[in-house]
Amino acid sequence: MHALVERLYPICRSITGDGVRRTLEIVGESVPLEISEVPTGTEVLDWTVPREWNIRDAYVKDPSGRRVVDFADSNLHVVGYSVPVSAVMTLAELREHLHTLPRQPDLIPYRTSYYAETWGFCLREKTLAELDEGPYEVRIDATLADGHLTYGEHVVPGRTAEEVIVSCHVCHPSLANDNLAGVAVAVHLARRLAEADPWYTYRFLFMPGTIGAITWLARNREHVGRVAHGLVLACAGDSGALTYKRSRRGDAEIDRVVEHVLRTSGRAHRIVDFSPYGYDERQFCSPGFDLPVGSLTRTPYAGYPEYHTSADDPGFVSPEAMADTLETCWEVTRVLERNRRYRNLSPYGEPQLGRRGLYGSLGGRSDTRQAQMAMLWVLNLSDGRHTLLDIAERSDLPFATVAEAAQALRGAGLVEEWT
Ligand code: ZN
Repeated sequence: MHALVERLYPICRSITGDGVRRTLEIVGESVPLEISEVPTGTEVLDWTVPREWNIRDAYVKDPSGRRVVDFADSNLHVVGYSVPVSAVMTLAELREHLHTLPRQPDLIPYRTSYYAETWGFCLREKTLAELDEGPYEVRIDATLADGHLTYGEHVVPGRTAEEVIVSCHVCHPSLANDNLAGVAVAVHLARRLAEADPWYTYRFLFMPGTIGAITWLARNREHVGRVAHGLVLACAGDSGALTYKRSRRGDAEIDRVVEHVLRTSGRAHRIVDFSPYGYDERQFCSPGFDLPVGSLTRTPYAGYPEYHTSADDPGFVSPEAMADTLETCWEVTRVLERNRRYRNLSPYGEPQLGRRGLYGSLGGRSDTRQAQMAMLWVLNLSDGRHTLLDIAERSDLPFATVAEAAQALRGAGLVEEWT
């Protein structure tokens, strides 16, 4: 995962353009993608697909010809979606187009201006402090022209058409945690699921933030009914604890599953309620759609000083943290996959478990008592109304223990799946 982050990191991405295409090409080497190209001007819900932005070079050159700000050093140096410019100007004239972080003088900020036609440079406050009056040669060699918005989808087919969507944004340039780590985790989750013959169909969405999700929703309006669960993945690689932000519904199955997984895992974590901000959960959870989609991050949106700065580099994300996020996502799918309702076929009095070898089969195991309790809970609550997750929550047992108990009881003919 970390190697993928490092490989994607240098690419200059935005909400449209060749950087997104190149990113999807590389992701496509690991998981096959279906690419959509949506033309500029296409109406999508209340929005319109913008013109496509591509950039080749940009710099601010001092009178000696030295590039004091150089796109080749970092693509963060140019405000995303800057219109082309070629001019000579003094520092005073240039200043209104310069963005710095006075309180983080060694870092380059990340800025965009998608919907207001302007241009600008981002630089270290330290660099700005060293600039004299100039004049400077200022150039942004970019094009903003009719083209396309690009996004990619990867589907892991399941045994049902009901879908779990996993969405991550691919519109940020050289920023690792936001969101190359999320992309890497999604890629590896997809590969793992493909080997698991899943029940659900899993659809992985690699899309530019906001406009990408809005475009996807506009083009899939008739199909969103098949979305049973969803997760937006972002900020998946920093060293902070996992944070789950609930869906708008707040009590969707995905909300309960992620909360259960986090609570029983022993991991430090935080659960926060839905708010109409953050990443593309804003779109999936807009009231017209109201999809059961939550958001999993480590340190959330804007919650760390490296956020949207040049310090969010591959060194800021760790293989360990990404592996931990991946493992959590995997455990979430393990619960979703097995969360069924059962019917107790012997509901009058407790059935005799010993006679059926259900005690003996567990002999010697250190978790015997837990497994036994799980069987009693499954038998008691398998009335068609309670799912295995309901039983796990009520019994305060890990889901896996409850699911194994249900499996054993099913093998003994004591419960059947409720359909
Ligand atoms: Zn961001």
